[in-house]
Amino acid sequence: MNFAQKMTRVTIKEHGGTESLQFESARIPEPDSGEVVVQLKTMALNHLDLWVRRGVEGHRFPLPLTPGCDGAGIVTAVGSGVDTSLLNQSVMLSPGFSCGGCSFCKSDRDPLCKNYGILGETCHGTCAEYVRVQADQCLPKPESVSWEEAAAFPLSTLTSASMIEKAQLRPEETLLVIAGTSGVGSMAIQIGKNLGCQVIATGSTEEKRQKARELGADHVLEPDQESWWKEVKKTTSGRGADVIFENVGEATWNQSLLALAVGGRLTTCGATTGSLVPVELKRLFFKNQQIIGSTMGSRSLLSTLQKSFESRELVPLIDSVYPFRQLADAHDRMESRQSMGKIVLQF
Ligand code: ZN
Repeated sequence: MNFAQKMTRVTIKEHGGTESLQFESARIPEPDSGEVVVQLKTMALNHLDLWVRRGVEGHRFPLPLTPGCDGAGIVTAVGSGVDTSLLNQSVMLSPGFSCGGCSFCKSDRDPLCKNYGILGETCHGTCAEYVRVQADQCLPKPESVSWEEAAAFPLSTLTSASMIEKAQLRPEETLLVIAGTSGVGSMAIQIGKNLGCQVIATGSTEEKRQKARELGADHVLEPDQESWWKEVKKTTSGRGADVIFENVGEATWNQSLLALAVGGRLTTCGATTGSLVPVELKRLFFKNQQIIGSTMGSRSLLSTLQKSFESRELVPLIDSVYPFRQLADAHDRMESRQSMGKIVLQF
């Protein structure tokens, strides 16, 4: 291929509103040793895209930066040391990458690697027609899934499954999914049901609650209603939920903890409504409860999940599909909190 060729990408030079998402022409990247270049067919948004665009107090992103963590496409170039059979393969990307050689990487805990990075956060991501990644970030795209699904799957499914794995959810237990139609929440419902659990989900609108039921939730709740945690108790014969799947933060935290069973585990990967929350320690230790933070998940877990994706045991919920040029509209949609599941962009 001709490396002087140009591509279109989005670059954030300064944090701000959707006007910070600037389209520009750039050279198509060349792969270094161990890397490949992928021509993207689709990419999917995550909350991380909003943080990268707006900026996070006390955190410095490497601007100018092309955002975008998830993507799927075709390998168009391979660097030295990479198996050339990858060329022209249809792939979906692992958003995370790491050194591969440290004790964390070698013990299947790669997100703890000191060099762990995420596409679109620590290096240029998938809001571009071409992206350069480590060859081992490429996972074969199953033929049974669409390009839209292939981009929608990796980050939220990996995040969701890793949280549930850390919480050691068991088949006889009850899982409460806060915001059941979010990208991660919609996957958590499916994972919980596949395990055989009773699943309760919250949804802020009737449409969202209906979608949560369709995804398999046995009971749904309105998080705006006062004392919804009592409903969780009622539904579980007074016991509460064994595992609570949180990614909302401040708005739901207090009631989530009240809904947690003795011996329960609350696992969180996000704080979309704020991250400063109180904890009543006496209740936590007397009830033998755990609060578990989690971000991303291991490469090997993603490979395992890919089999459930191929067999369609796990299907990403897709909210909407936009042309790449309408990235700003897609960000608006995500910020509006009306979306259910993943927002995908097509190149
Ligand atoms: Zn490492």
